[in-house]
Amino acid sequence: MKKRTIKVAKFGGTSLANAVQIRKVCAIVKSDPSRRVVVVSAPGKRSSDDVKITDRLIALARTRLEGGSGDAERAAILERYEEIIRDLGLSKTLGEEIAGDLERRLAADRKEAATYLDLLKAAGEDYCARLVAQALLREGVPARYLGPEEAGLLLSDEPGNAQVLPESYSRLARVLGSIRETVVFPGFFGLTPTGRIVTFPRGGSDITGAILASAVQAAEYENFTDVDSVFAADPRLVPEARPIELLTYREMRELAYAGFGVFHEEAIIPAVQARIPIHIRNTNRPEAPGSRVVPERPYTAGAVVGIASSDGFCTLFVDKYLMNREVGFGRRLLQIIEEEGLSYEHMPSGIDNLSVVLREEQLTEAMKARILERCRSELKAEDAEFEPGLCLIMIVGEGMRYTVGMAARATSALARAGVNIEMMNQGASEISMMFGVKSVDRKRAVRALYDEFFSAGT
Ligand code: ASP
Repeated sequence: MKKRTIKVAKFGGTSLANAVQIRKVCAIVKSDPSRRVVVVSAPGKRSSDDVKITDRLIALARTRLEGGSGDAERAAILERYEEIIRDLGLSKTLGEEIAGDLERRLAADRKEAATYLDLLKAAGEDYCARLVAQALLREGVPARYLGPEEAGLLLSDEPGNAQVLPESYSRLARVLGSIRETVVFPGFFGLTPTGRIVTFPRGGSDITGAILASAVQAAEYENFTDVDSVFAADPRLVPEARPIELLTYREMRELAYAGFGVFHEEAIIPAVQARIPIHIRNTNRPEAPGSRVVPERPYTAGAVVGIASSDGFCTLFVDKYLMNREVGFGRRLLQIIEEEGLSYEHMPSGIDNLSVVLREEQLTEAMKARILERCRSELKAEDAEFEPGLCLIMIVGEGMRYTVGMAARATSALARAGVNIEMMNQGASEISMMFGVKSVDRKRAVRALYDEFFSAGT
């Protein structure tokens, strides 16, 4: 394979949920001969009340670990693959091979629960890749399955949370470079140096795609999903939000932080480090332009590229007269947070007070009580309290660096909408501005900001 001419195309679970979807995947792969590496997830949901294969595999593994038979889950998993094989008119032997392999996995050693779980979790992608390779062959595309073992994708021995080992890249480049067919590669898992199967965190097929894109120095990493593009605001909050056709890695990272959920920003690190352009596309509408995420983009009119918002934060507010003169106050406060095993997001401060913004989901009532007690007794704070229900809103755009008056426009738009700003942060990042508002004001605030920065004539 020649470098910089090939594309790595990753398809998510909904793109592989049934035979109809897999036919679309085959047509997409066939339509562009430069798509030489195809990375697949496990079959996902066919409808909103369906269950992903990966979730079924996890349930099956857990039941087995608890001593149950898991027969119903096992049957549901096999039935799903058999149905796809039947509907695609592929050889029945494949279904038998899958059933045999699942049996072998189920019979594996269960002493280490996490390893057993990963062995089963990884099966979803593995079977899917074998199936898609056959489907492509039937469509006349010279294709073959290539798995992490043969390709040399080595991961750290951290079940469910594995990291790629750096030596993988040269091995992957060598193996992929020697194959003439289109490769279908299962996402989500790899092998430890001792040969055990381990998985990335959930959603980890994106990581596999980014690693392969980096290894082959791909011209583009295509990430096929079920949305047309990334939108300038969450369409659930702003139905007419416009698509973003071009954004930079940094813009994507800032937007993802505050809730843009196309993919985990961590998942694409290998592609970002290798400066490979990422193209988010829709399997159901391949003709849509999609969104390109690139290292840099030319500065165009309209400084703001997107507005993201995320709920579920709370503030620890601590007040103490003359706090500003007290050496080490901030450190001691953060130490209390650290000793509870909590990570914090932001720390806006005043003369006599400090606020620490945390993700609410990591806090229990007991932790809160301990923290407040220590603030009063150890830090001698006059006031300490938790305020729940904070929503963070980010306005993001590389062009904000060069544009005067952005904060004024944003704050007046919020004021006109009657939204009270609880906190504000600009400066830490040149390309974004952050506002904290009450969760109940989220929709109104995003709408006001969208109208201000994206409505016609602005
Ligand atoms: N199938 C795995 C999951 O559901 C990985 C992926 O789809 O990316 O998390």
